[in-house]
Amino acid sequence: MESILLLAHTEADGTLARPALEALAAAIALGGPLTVGLVGAEVQPAADQVASCGAARFLAVRGDAFAQPRYATDAAAAEAICRAWGCGIVLAAGTSRWARALPGVAQRLGGRVDTHANAIVAQNGGAAVARWFYRQRMEAVLTRTQRPWIVLLDPGCVAAWSGAAGAAGSAAVEAVACEPPATRTTVTGFRATEGDEQTIRPDAKLLFVAGAGWTKKQADGAVHAAEAERLILGMLRKSQASLGGSKSLVDLSGEGEAVLRFMTHMNQIGQTGSTPRHPKGLSTCCHGEEPHVVGWRFVNQRRAINLDANCGWARGKADVLYVADAFEVMRHLNALL
Ligand SMILES: Cc1cc2nc3c(=O)[nH]c(=O)nc-3n(C[C@H](O)[C@H](O)[C@H](O)COP(=O)(O)OP(=O)(O)OC[C@H]3O[C@@H](n4cnc5c(N)ncnc54)[C@H](O)[C@@H]3O)c2cc1C
Repeated sequence: MESILLLAHTEADGTLARPALEALAAAIALGGPLTVGLVGAEVQPAADQVASCGAARFLAVRGDAFAQPRYATDAAAAEAICRAWGCGIVLAAGTSRWARALPGVAQRLGGRVDTHANAIVAQNGGAAVARWFYRQRMEAVLTRTQRPWIVLLDPGCVAAWSGAAGAAGSAAVEAVACEPPATRTTVTGFRATEGDEQTIRPDAKLLFVAGAGWTKKQADGAVHAAEAERLILGMLRKSQASLGGSKSLVDLSGEGEAVLRFMTHMNQIGQTGSTPRHPKGLSTCCHGEEPHVVGWRFVNQRRAINLDANCGWARGKADVLYVADAFEVMRHLNALL
């Protein structure tokens, strides 16, 4: 098996987050000689965290200039580490930070990059990468002869490496020289959303999807948007589920109508939305049309609540369809929670 470089950026505390540990597990499973490359303000805690992973070398670009996600500095650091390491397969987590920087690094090195891989396995002394195309309708397995071959592994596809951490300072880190390039971007700080405003939770066990039906006239001839909002937010707070929406619903919210003010296009699931990974999903007041359901590819158990026994979910797209009024079901569910 050829050489593997696991490339990881550290978090604010100098350690590695779960996506990096998942990529590390995939790198180890390939079975080739492993080098770990680290980028960040602090890297020793990360190296110690994975000291027992079997890596032959730890290479690092460290310094305050490399603390923040920024194309110029991230690409320079990754390039320097790749050049110090040699040539082979470079594996990294498909974080927004690496997704932005590493394709440019592949170009600088005369290599190739593949993004959104969902698996990588050893094959004929090299590797084969699996990824989905056409919005998760087709899966391809591909190999490449060009090196370095940079592969970005989507988070949530592989169990994270969970070996024992080493003592502080136990991993010998080799510093790689990298002059921070001149930048025009200054990061002035972070502004986090309030706890309850943040409705997208990639690690949640449940994906709760709201469709446009929540904003439609109900049996009494009236719209009940305020109650819909209360029921949905109440459910999210109690269950800590992640919130998804159909395109129809997020479009309504974006048009400034007085409906579900917490919904944005970031919540949209489907062909032109996202394809999150959750063990379970519950769809409410959503018709279950193909452009929406294609975003449910990686939701393992699917349930839906719809008044219409002939909705799209009934046509083999859900494991369980409750033909029921979602307002009523959610009132009961919230009471139970
Ligand atoms: C190129 C293209 C890309 C697209 N991409 C996406 C995409 O990424 N994501 C996406 O979602 N859509 C996408 N769409 C749109 C998609 O085809 C549908 O129009 C959309 O998903 C419909 O949203 P909906 O099911 O919420 O609304 P509707 O079709 O209006 O369905 C509302 C449902 O709510 C039910 N309902 C009403 N009241 C209740 C109640 N009290 N209890 C239970 N059920 C109730 C109704 O029976 C109905 O089935 C795309 C379309 C195209 C052409």
